[in-house]
Amino acid sequence: MPSLSLKEIRTKVEALEKEIRLQRSILKVIPEPFFILDRKGDFLKVNPKGMEILGYPPEELQQRVFMDVVPLEDLNRIREGFEEMRQGNEVRFRTQITSRLGERIPVEFFGTLTEDAFFIILKDLRERIEIEEEFERAKKELAEKNRERDLYARELQVIRDLYKEKLKEIEVMKEEAVLLSYTDDLTGIYNHRFFIEQLTLEVDRQKRYPTSLSLLMIDIDYFKNYNDTNGHLTGDQALKAIAFLIQRGVRQTDIVARYGGEEFSAILINAGREKALEIAERVRSNVADARFPNESAQPNKDLTVSVGVATFSSPISTLTDLIREADNALYRAKKGGRNRIEG
Ligand code: GH3
Ligand code: MG
Ligand code: MG
Repeated sequence: MPSLSLKEIRTKVEALEKEIRLQRSILKVIPEPFFILDRKGDFLKVNPKGMEILGYPPEELQQRVFMDVVPLEDLNRIREGFEEMRQGNEVRFRTQITSRLGERIPVEFFGTLTEDAFFIILKDLRERIEIEEEFERAKKELAEKNRERDLYARELQVIRDLYKEKLKEIEVMKEEAVLLSYTDDLTGIYNHRFFIEQLTLEVDRQKRYPTSLSLLMIDIDYFKNYNDTNGHLTGDQALKAIAFLIQRGVRQTDIVARYGGEEFSAILINAGREKALEIAERVRSNVADARFPNESAQPNKDLTVSVGVATFSSPISTLTDLIREADNALYRAKKGGRNRIEG
């Protein structure tokens, strides 16, 4: 070996030092934990990130071999890895290492054997696994939310359908209720309440648009007798039949109601006294001409009605006036022998 001058030696030392500094700075800038191990697995070089992930102070790390930082359950996998590297292969697999504090750290292990030394890079997977887990959680949550939403949507649809159905039912019931509240159960014609409402409207209308308006009060003659002779059920049949005959006697636009008991009333719209008398007579004769079971047992051998007629005109200018006037006329018809009209 040729002897070197001092200057040459210095130059070589300087070059060597430069090389070492370069190596150190390369190690420093490698962003992942990086290890160089000798063939036995002793740590030759560890970069700052490597120190950080293992958590050992440098002097303590000197006492260890790489297998000391591998958890028991991963020993085999890592041994296999080293074997593969020895055969000249680059390896890459997922495994774990144990930090000084005993934490199992999931890592991606990259390794290769170069010039009699193992070069190993560990990629810390903690954050990635956390993100993956977070992603899985979010996915599950979303699926659960979607499932719930579908469930709610279905339930909502069912409720909506039910609601619609109920609404329809309620509409029908309302119509029925309105109809019921205005009609008489036995005869199916309007009841006393509807009669009063309509007569009130008609009387009010007279104040704004005076036209002619008349009222009939119709009462079955000797009906107590008919009931007593033939029974209440036959009486009911006769009541129904007479309601029908009255309706046939008035005009389409007139309003026939059961005033109460065996008494009926008819509001004759646009009918003056003459017209009202004419309609009253038609009603009376309709009933008189009709044949009823066993009517010959009646005091006048016939089931008949008496009719009182009143027409709206001064001094008969209120609802009560009109009704009282028609009642008075009816009373006169009864007094006059029944099966008569008075007005
Ligand atoms: P008048 O000629 O004076 O009117 O004699 P009337 O017997 O018809 O009169 P009264 O007021 O004495 O009797 C009315 C009868 O009408 C008594 C009652 O039993 C009967 N009546 C009232 N409402 C009904 C009913 O809904 N069904 C039946 N079958 N009878 C009824
Ligand atoms: Mg009566
Ligand atoms: Mg009567």
